[in-house]
Amino acid sequence: MRLRNVKNAHERLVSNEKYVITDCKEHKGKWNEVFGNNNPIELEIGMGKGQFLLELAKRNPDINYIGIEKFTSVILRASEKLENLDLPNVRIINVNADDLLDIFTEGEISKLYLNFSDPWPKNCHAKRRLTSITYLPKYEVILKKDGEIHFKTDNIHLFEFSLESMNNYQMLLKNISLDLHNSAFEGNIMTEFEERFSKTGPIYRLEATFRREK
Ligand code: SAH
Repeated sequence: MRLRNVKNAHERLVSNEKYVITDCKEHKGKWNEVFGNNNPIELEIGMGKGQFLLELAKRNPDINYIGIEKFTSVILRASEKLENLDLPNVRIINVNADDLLDIFTEGEISKLYLNFSDPWPKNCHAKRRLTSITYLPKYEVILKKDGEIHFKTDNIHLFEFSLESMNNYQMLLKNISLDLHNSAFEGNIMTEFEERFSKTGPIYRLEATFRREK
């Protein structure tokens, strides 16, 4: 997702000091101080315009939420929404997931959400997929023991790749759904992409944890 030619996007983003964290590496291992409490911290990678994260945060005031998004023009939309909301349990960061280990320390994150991650359809780009072996070891570090990854997508190829990638990494998979919207799953929060793509086909979803005895 990319919105082109947003004027002064960076300046406008960083002016939202209440919600946008610019010196994110300074907070590694100390994110509880940013929120001023010891509540669990959950992370969404590729949060887009923030519809999912903001709704989740409204429903769960006792959980802290951090969203990261690599495109400034996209995360700016989330920042603008936040300006009109009072959500002390939310922070957003304009950063690439490649930098996760510079931002979070071991076990700092309780749950990780990946929603409609870029499919990178060409095989030669497989390692850029957020469920590839490039990223799983990073998630393993920052997630607490038993910390879950919740992943959903409309893309069957990315979903199959993710099942295989997580299985090869010896992860435990559960609550797999091949048609989320026609399943018994309760409390689903729709993302922007989900609203768009569920009109044309099923939504796939899984939950995964790391095997810690390895
Ligand atoms: N989660 C939103 C957006 C999905 S599109 C929704 O479901 O509606 C995928 C988003 O992930 C895009 O906005 C893209 O810029 C972001 N993204 C992709 N790779 C990323 C990475 N490595 N680090 C941070 N954000 C990333």
